[in-house]
Amino acid sequence: MTHSDDGVFADAIQRLDRAFEYADIDEEALLRLKHPKAMLEVSIPVRRDDGSLSIYRGYRVRHDDTRGPTKGGIRYHPSVDLSEVKALAFWMTCKCAVVGIPYGGGKGGIIVNPKELSRLELERLSRGFIRNICDFIGPETDVPAPDMYTNAMIMGWMMDEYSKIRRQRTPAVITGKPIPLGGSLGRDDATGRGAYYCIKEMEERHHWDPRQKRVAVQGFGNAGQHVARLLHADGYHIVAVSDSRGGIYKQDGFDIPSLMYAKNESRQLKAVYCEGSVCEAVEADSITNEELLELDVDLLIPAALENQITEENAKRIKAPIVVEVANGPTTNEADEILNAAGKTVIPDILANAGGVTVSYFEWLQNKAGDYWEVDRVHTRLQSIMSREFRAIHDRMEEHSLDMRTAAYAHALSRIGEAIAAQGTSRYFSRDSG
Ligand code: GLU
Repeated sequence: MTHSDDGVFADAIQRLDRAFEYADIDEEALLRLKHPKAMLEVSIPVRRDDGSLSIYRGYRVRHDDTRGPTKGGIRYHPSVDLSEVKALAFWMTCKCAVVGIPYGGGKGGIIVNPKELSRLELERLSRGFIRNICDFIGPETDVPAPDMYTNAMIMGWMMDEYSKIRRQRTPAVITGKPIPLGGSLGRDDATGRGAYYCIKEMEERHHWDPRQKRVAVQGFGNAGQHVARLLHADGYHIVAVSDSRGGIYKQDGFDIPSLMYAKNESRQLKAVYCEGSVCEAVEADSITNEELLELDVDLLIPAALENQITEENAKRIKAPIVVEVANGPTTNEADEILNAAGKTVIPDILANAGGVTVSYFEWLQNKAGDYWEVDRVHTRLQSIMSREFRAIHDRMEEHSLDMRTAAYAHALSRIGEAIAAQGTSRYFSRDSG
């Protein structure tokens, strides 16, 4: 979808005003967060395999670096625009503050449909982007990572290009790398796993029996696949999944490892049951992405693009609990409708923060030159997710808030503290003592 001038970003920052009164932050600090620190727009010439030249447009935005280097993924998608990248960078600032890791927020994107490029063209594009933004990023300034339609292979090329330019091996400039190039164990499923730990917190609080719970997952990319896999292994019934082409539904739930196998082998979402590499079709209904959102399930997990739950369809959402694995899947108007209907929304800046948390572990390992066992990654991730989930849940109950506002207030208090420590008018005024 296309966005008007400052559309997504303007919408995104409205959430600050809503959380302001419940957060310990002063107005000046809030004002600072409404303006990204720096934005870069670049043109990337790419020699195509047939000898012709294509020029792509890319962006990198550093939203706020008060709490540490800016951190956030790079997305390859035809609908990328500057306002979207600004919004995504802003969400990263909030997300890193939610989980208390020492980063600010950044984001990047290239307007491209990566499915139309060969692997070599993709490599030339990725290396070309890094040559253009290399003075803007760095292990202590801005640290990219994967996002939609980028992956470990691409991060490996980018790290290699940056290291060549600097004439110095610099693994900590980017996270989400392949393991042999300094990636962390456990980064691959970290976003889905972080959401899974949030759901486990809900399960414990409400004494759920997973075998009684039905789940729909919109989006079967990295995050959607792993959250579905972990829930399925605990006995949850994953009754619907979808990708950009549409979805499948099965009353008593799918065997998720089989769907993952088929999706990763053939790039297609198929209702199958696999034994080893032999897959057989199973009975399932096909549904659209819109229908999936409106299913009568216990848990709805949007794990695709922004703006999926809108003013138009929010009133038809039946799931009592929505877990936002995607960034920004719910519009502000839809939020109000869901809140009024008494739904619990575990917001994106908490639910999908597992990815950047393990990125932080990767960065620490790169800087120390000391690599962790996967159990250590899981244990530390779980302890952070559970701790922050509980803190946000307590804030929500204390002030009778929705969970999103509580999460923003929680993040704003941490950012506000850091901005105040750098100096605000209150801090400098004579009567502040
Ligand atoms: N792109 C992911 C996100 O939106 C991960 C960012 C990172 O690891 O820096 O949270």
